[in-house]
Amino acid sequence: MPSVKVPGPYAGNLAYSRHSAKTVQMIEVRNDWTREEARALHDLPLTDLLFRAQEVHRATQPRDAVQLCSLLSIKTGACQEDCSYCPQSSKYDTGVEAERLMDVDAVLAKAQEAKEAGASRFCMGAAWRSPKKGSRQFKQVLEMVGGVRALGLEACATLGMLDDEQTQELKDAGLTAYNHNLDTSEEYYGEIITTRTYQDRLDTIARVANAGISVCAGGIIGMGESIDDRVGMLVTLANLSPQPESVPVNALVAVPGTPLDDQKPVDSLELVRMCATARILMPGARVRLSAGRASLSREAQLLCFMAGANSVFFGDKLLTTGNPDHDSDLALLRDAGLSPLEPEQAEGGHAQHREPSATASDAAE
Ligand code: SF4
Repeated sequence: MPSVKVPGPYAGNLAYSRHSAKTVQMIEVRNDWTREEARALHDLPLTDLLFRAQEVHRATQPRDAVQLCSLLSIKTGACQEDCSYCPQSSKYDTGVEAERLMDVDAVLAKAQEAKEAGASRFCMGAAWRSPKKGSRQFKQVLEMVGGVRALGLEACATLGMLDDEQTQELKDAGLTAYNHNLDTSEEYYGEIITTRTYQDRLDTIARVANAGISVCAGGIIGMGESIDDRVGMLVTLANLSPQPESVPVNALVAVPGTPLDDQKPVDSLELVRMCATARILMPGARVRLSAGRASLSREAQLLCFMAGANSVFFGDKLLTTGNPDHDSDLALLRDAGLSPLEPEQAEGGHAQHREPSATASDAAE
């Protein structure tokens, strides 16, 4: 797009700074990105894109630290939704066995293990369209959240759509962050999911933000979408106010039995471009290299870190698919001179943090 001026990282007038007083720099956090601008960044020669992303990264993030998040499926399979990429949907025959909600003690034992292995955030995923209102299961999840926090870990959950009351209960239980991905662009979304709308997703994200819980929202590439769809999703995320505190960038893991099982693997440099574009558009976010990392070489992962990714899922299994094991991740960090991000560093760095508002639903539309 030669006619679009490529935005520079220091061109704006809205200050953003963080971390060391010695290295504070002014970085613009914008909520008015256009697709054209973002596409122009995304399409830069890769070395230029990496350089720009690294400039933003060094001004806004601990430069040599990577957040280690542990992810546990606390309730697996038999989900009513039809997300085309997901082996947990009841609509597809993928061989994933449905499991009931785990006991609180079993979840907390896993959280303790994750902490001992070096994780700073513990994410709990349940394959639900939404939690049942006032259910025993939801109360169990609240107990899990409190227990994880009591261990000194950040607690994140992904439970599907939430209403105002559930959001507040999670906040009161101490939830640090809530994951609810946009998955793709609004235009392409209907090709991937039909059982809930893009607006449903934005509504839950708005409730979470308004309750003062950090938003974790990102998406997946490699589902047959165009580059414009990828960039469009990042622009939608960047134009949320506040911007998400963490942005998972997933590469599709094509699971046999899902409608997307014939998609070809994502080229690692496409993932690098997504990480770098996300870093520039969302300077304060943790950019999380998520699903698909198991198929990346160490060098490709390091390029993603150079591009601004500074968070990974840590542990040999994601919700149902594979991930590098603890030892290989710790070896990669050690060999690259990187260190795990401590929870207190993570809590200090949220961009555009917003206090809870009086009514949670008013920003939903
Ligand atoms: S991604 Fe989540 S909501 Fe969609 S089918 Fe899988 S478990 Fe259900």
